[in-house]
Amino acid sequence: MARIAAARKAAFHPAPFTHLVAVSKTVDEAGISKALEAGQRLFGENRVQEVQGKFPALKSEYPDLQLHLIGPLQSNKVKDALALFDVIQTLDRPKLAQALATGRDQSGFCPPLFVQVNTGEEPQKAGVMPGEAAELIALARKLELPVIGLMCIPPAGQDGAPHFGFLQKLARDNGLDQLSMGMSGDFEMAIRFGATHVRVGTAIFGAREISAL
Ligand SMILES: *Cc1c(COP(=O)(O)O)cnc(C)c1O
Repeated sequence: MARIAAARKAAFHPAPFTHLVAVSKTVDEAGISKALEAGQRLFGENRVQEVQGKFPALKSEYPDLQLHLIGPLQSNKVKDALALFDVIQTLDRPKLAQALATGRDQSGFCPPLFVQVNTGEEPQKAGVMPGEAAELIALARKLELPVIGLMCIPPAGQDGAPHFGFLQKLARDNGLDQLSMGMSGDFEMAIRFGATHVRVGTAIFGAREISAL
């Protein structure tokens, strides 16, 4: 939190507020409890199944605990995801938009959404290609899905700055004001580009097993 505050102070145009999403994938309930005791309430997770296992008890103890889905969502898990998450950051394809709209019609609820953009155009990575992002945002709006922002994960080992700058412009061009970008290694840079949400795992919880990345 102190590092976020310092980065905001140093930034020319920080977002009005920067939320810390504590990425707790692979962290067990005891580890998450410690963060809750320290006052953290917003957590990011990658897998529906892992959340179903870890969070029910924690959520009943801390009713204001919030969960963001930051990993890829399969269409057949949409129903579960709608029941579990307060925000879904990984809308990345038309088929998923359709599935979310159908799920919303059945459950009566869809949380705020971010569109994930594959800014590095990496074939193995989730996210809509930059050239197709506007079209996906338009489709989501046509389906009356609550898209509020954009999310990206720059290529590992690359300077994040051009990716953050690109995402900021893409959001502005599409009338979106929330930006989920920046991880343990580069969240200070992302804040300079107006991040409203930084997703920080290892800098809070320590290193994960490589196999769990
Ligand atoms: C794991 C993960 C993070 C956190 O990464 P750290 O480098 O541990 O801070 C952020 N965003 C996404 C999408 C992740 O999967």
